[in-house]
Amino acid sequence: MSETTPQPEVDGAVYKTLLESTNAIPWKIDWKTMTFAYIGPQIEKLLGWSQASWVSAEDWSDRMHPEDRERVVNFCISQSQAGTDHEADYRALTDDGRYVWIRDVVHVVRDANGEVDSLIGFMFDISERKKTEEQLVILQKELEALSFRDGLTGVANRRMLDSTLELEWTLARRNNQPLSLIMLDIDFFKQYNDHYGHIQGDDCLKRVARVLGASATRARDLVARFGGEEFVILLPEADARAAAKVAERCRQAIFKEQIPHAHSPVGQLLTISLGVGTLTPAAQDTPLAFIEAVDRRLYQAKQAGRNRIVEAG
Ligand code: GH3
Ligand code: MG
Ligand code: MG
Repeated sequence: MSETTPQPEVDGAVYKTLLESTNAIPWKIDWKTMTFAYIGPQIEKLLGWSQASWVSAEDWSDRMHPEDRERVVNFCISQSQAGTDHEADYRALTDDGRYVWIRDVVHVVRDANGEVDSLIGFMFDISERKKTEEQLVILQKELEALSFRDGLTGVANRRMLDSTLELEWTLARRNNQPLSLIMLDIDFFKQYNDHYGHIQGDDCLKRVARVLGASATRARDLVARFGGEEFVILLPEADARAAAKVAERCRQAIFKEQIPHAHSPVGQLLTISLGVGTLTPAAQDTPLAFIEAVDRRLYQAKQAGRNRIVEAG
């Protein structure tokens, strides 16, 4: 006979004290009767419901957020029937009508015949963790939004323009709809910077972006900073006439802002030059070729004396 290792004497009272002094809340459910054989007194501190009020498994499911109930109850029942240990996160209702995020970690106990005898588990308060997770999601969304914006002017950046153009291109092709693009560039901006300084140059870019944003009025219109002092306005479902109107509105709105540009060879105020293009994308067309065609018109507008628009033709 081998000697058995002496076990420290741990009686029920010690276990009970240990169980009832942890932050996790222990519980036991009898599988056949679906009633609580035990739940730790800590439950009252967490949720407000008294220890004695936890009688049947329904008391547990009733005190669960309605949006979580079906998913969690079905999951726990199927896992328990299969005899699989499991865990579930859900919002538990407090006696004053709030919800607390709980993680329930469940162990399935079987009897000598291998039948499910009971479930024992621990409930953990995970509200802090959930709060952090939610904040992280918000932060990620903000970051995502920021990474599509131009840092200086707040309008869409080149990345956003590329993604949106691709999407609108596909839609226009599928629906056989025209798509218009305006490319514009501030006239003699180098002289502006040289005269007023770079900081005021930056302010001027912000102002131009704001005016352009106000001039492109439809929900799907997109104003983007293409680079430097060049902007693009994408106009989905806009034909050549509509695009020409928007371009003229932009040109006039910038002029009406009356941003002084003392050293501009075309006048005393800040002006822009614009190229406009419209197409209903066909198989042989590409967004890049479209942008290049519109860019050539912008160049023509510069060549023709600036503060003007060059459209198709
Ligand atoms: P044009 O009428 O032919 O367009 O002449 P331009 O001087 O505007 O054109 P050019 O491309 O030669 O110069 C653009 C200038 O824009 C040069 C650069 O200093 C200025 N610029 C580009 N990005 C920024 C910016 O973020 N802030 C400021 N302040 N200036 C910028
Ligand atoms: Mg310029
Ligand atoms: Mg330029």
